[in-house]
Amino acid sequence: MNPAQGKVWLVGAGPGDPGLLTIRGKECLEHADVVIYDSLANEALLDYAPTAEHIFAGKATDKHMLLQDEINRVMREQASQGKRVVRLKGGDPFVFGRGGEEALVLADAGIAFEIVPGITAGIAGPAYAGIPVTHRGLATCYTLITGHDAEALETDDEDLSQLLLRGTLVFYMGVRNLPRIAAQLVALGRPDTTPAAIVQWGTDPKQRTAVGTLADIAERAHDECIQPPAIIVVGEVVSLHDTLSWFESRPLFGKRIVVTRARSQASDLVRHLQELGADVFEFPTIAIEPPENPEPFDPVNTYDWIVLTSVNAVEMLFERMDNLGQDARDLAGVRLCVIGSATSEAVRRRFLRVDLMPEKYVAEYLMAALLAQEPDLAGKRFLLPRADIARSFLPEELRKHGADVTEVVAYRTVVPRTPDSLAERLATYRPDLVTFTSSSTARNFYEMLGAERIARLKQTAKFGAIGPITAKTAGSLGMPVTIEPDTHDIPNFVRAIVDGLGREATEAGR
Ligand code: SAH
Repeated sequence: MNPAQGKVWLVGAGPGDPGLLTIRGKECLEHADVVIYDSLANEALLDYAPTAEHIFAGKATDKHMLLQDEINRVMREQASQGKRVVRLKGGDPFVFGRGGEEALVLADAGIAFEIVPGITAGIAGPAYAGIPVTHRGLATCYTLITGHDAEALETDDEDLSQLLLRGTLVFYMGVRNLPRIAAQLVALGRPDTTPAAIVQWGTDPKQRTAVGTLADIAERAHDECIQPPAIIVVGEVVSLHDTLSWFESRPLFGKRIVVTRARSQASDLVRHLQELGADVFEFPTIAIEPPENPEPFDPVNTYDWIVLTSVNAVEMLFERMDNLGQDARDLAGVRLCVIGSATSEAVRRRFLRVDLMPEKYVAEYLMAALLAQEPDLAGKRFLLPRADIARSFLPEELRKHGADVTEVVAYRTVVPRTPDSLAERLATYRPDLVTFTSSSTARNFYEMLGAERIARLKQTAKFGAIGPITAKTAGSLGMPVTIEPDTHDIPNFVRAIVDGLGREATEAGR
């Protein structure tokens, strides 16, 4: 092998859910110069390789053979230029994925390669449909079969026939041939009462499952309009689906929800909604930027307290200190008051302890907690780095108690420069719900989408707001809010969304 040559990693992307990529697969993507991906690999995984060149290898069409030659050529060429090439393939690269052929091409050309297995759709699809592919007492063996060539099943081969009569059978690429596959299994002697299922887009929010028996599964799949990609599962294990179906039965399964928070703040809400099964579309309506003219403040060690109300404020403080040649040691003796657990975490990551963290960001709580530690605020020096649109009750309260308060704008919130194509994609996404977590998210959303697109959204979407002020802003812009929690925080907002949108709510409303 020539060391100046590059190398190819044949990486399994997993079946669809981006969380099912392996850690090794993620590492390979992070170090790739080029990623050649096919249509079954989730495009979200390309985010792990933001600076790499992304080459789409296309769909499996009738011109597959030609396409495959082309893929092989690109792989060889890129590697010969000394690049690190990731060939990202849906599921596992060696399970019906032509990964073996691609590895042979590389071996033949003397190009170094590694194989990174992935979770194959034939295991993950059934798992997400609540079907274990083996189960004590129900199936002791499990067979992966291509359903592409139905004639291959119409065989005199005794060994294959014996295999088809046992345990769990999983067919890949079999949607079109499902009627023939089911009939042939019955003809071979598998009872027509054998449970069977078909799982479309397994592990993805688009997942759908049709269940029946060999006698009627083809009809059920047809009625449910099941389309490729789908996995067919045949065997007694399918009977466990009714009890074990966990993915499709989550309360927000398949609901399309738009999250408009700034990306840096959205993760909590997004994670909660996804865990409940929602298909989340992130459309950040707020971007954080440094102030245009940073205001000066005194050396940090001249303050008695620094009050940090957001992660952004923490970051800004340290950046400014760094620019002045200061570091954490200059904070010796300065007490830190933080608002919110994420802010506290950001402070602790810098190996600093938090002196005060009031339970709620409400004037009375904060002042009471502060006064408990610092009964006499007269002449005490406070530094408050905050957003340009921050509420002003805190400096006012502190000043009332005689404190000397310095406020500096730590960051500005602006309308992000989002490509119009994303706004258009959102308008055609047919969401069930658009969520607003502050008045600015509602205002900016309106500005970014425009009245015409919002009118289109309203055909399918409800609107949700975290609290009454936000709801009022959204309402005044023609986006009437019908989902709003009693207590204005993320966990309660999520609960209100489940109540207003969840399966039971939808069914009751029918
Ligand atoms: N290497 C892939 C399989 C590629 S063959 C793997 O290991 O999963 C393509 C076939 O895989 C499709 O026709 C379909 O049968 C199956 N498949 C791939 N992804 C799927 C998914 N998310 N849900 C259901 N079936 C899927």
